[in-house]
Amino acid sequence: MQSNHTERVLTGDRTTGKLHLGHYVGSLKNRIEMQRKYDTFILLADVQALTTHFEAPKEMGRHLHQIALDYLAAGIDPEKATIFVQSLVPEIAELTIFYSMFVTVNSLRHNPTVKSEAAERGYNQLYYGFLGYPVSQAADITFCKATLIPVGEDQVPHIEQTRKIVRRFNELYAPVLIEPKAVVGDVPRLVGLDGKNKMSKSMGNAITLDASALEVREKIQVAVTDPARIRKSDPGHPEVCPVFSYHQAFASGTADEIAAGCRSGAMGCVECKQRIVGRINELLEPMRERRVAYETNPRMVDEILTAGTKRAREIAKETMREVREAMGLNYRFDYDEVRG
Ligand code: ATP
Ligand code: MG
Repeated sequence: MQSNHTERVLTGDRTTGKLHLGHYVGSLKNRIEMQRKYDTFILLADVQALTTHFEAPKEMGRHLHQIALDYLAAGIDPEKATIFVQSLVPEIAELTIFYSMFVTVNSLRHNPTVKSEAAERGYNQLYYGFLGYPVSQAADITFCKATLIPVGEDQVPHIEQTRKIVRRFNELYAPVLIEPKAVVGDVPRLVGLDGKNKMSKSMGNAITLDASALEVREKIQVAVTDPARIRKSDPGHPEVCPVFSYHQAFASGTADEIAAGCRSGAMGCVECKQRIVGRINELLEPMRERRVAYETNPRMVDEILTAGTKRAREIAKETMREVREAMGLNYRFDYDEVRG
């Protein structure tokens, strides 16, 4: 990654539940590194969460605070990164509407992530908001002219959609928006404890970042392993074992040794699991300590979100002014007087 002062990072999470190890390796780890070099924005995507959780809006506040704690515990530094709440930046909703005028329904229907998520949720009909969430993501990214987007693999089609929207807007009106790039983590898609799906908040197959040492042990103990390995002496197939993929993600230095022990039958699943439990707990331990510091001071977390959202809003207003001007929507009103 070249150092360039004009780069700006934006990424975020839907406020649908606590963050887990998949978020950490897919995106959060990169954010923690990138915040040192670049102006970094982290979005608590409560509006996007509503695209699937519209029946439970009352849960958003709780999830939002849990995720803010996850960020701070994991090492997001509020002095370096701007953490903000999506629904409190109404310009994002305005941009979404403007962009939606020139995005075709087909391009959204063919988005592979939208398709697979709709299938997972058993949607036999598509909701307008859900189908359009990649357009709202384009607004999240462009309101602050972000250039680097640390995400898991499932988000890559959405960043591509954003790039198209930016090109189209700039071509139709004036070149005010910037094309972002996806930065995919070392582990683009961490598999869940069930071995079938990606580790996900909504699927009950995750180890959350706030898990206790005991919870980590209990969850790994029941994690799916190579189904062909029944006795310890049976040769294993690490390439199909979710627990081995955790070794690759969290203990890459010793993964070859684990793979060799598994293949030869010298190392059983019990020992393999014990070792990864130890490693995951080593990773989570400093997060547990930082979490307690913030948990005991909820006012501090609220202040961080207030300051972050105010800053995001200022930038959004400026972009909105440019967008309206580019589109010729700058009527003879005093913009500041009307919009405050
Ligand atoms: P939901 O099931 O509610 O959609 P989620 O677990 O998919 O939740 P998101 O908030 O949709 O989480 O994703 C936030 C970010 O974390 C995205 O960049 C996504 O790509 C990344 N991410 C989520 N799960 C994983 C995973 N298992 N492996 C790698 N990256 C992931
Ligand atoms: Mg998701």
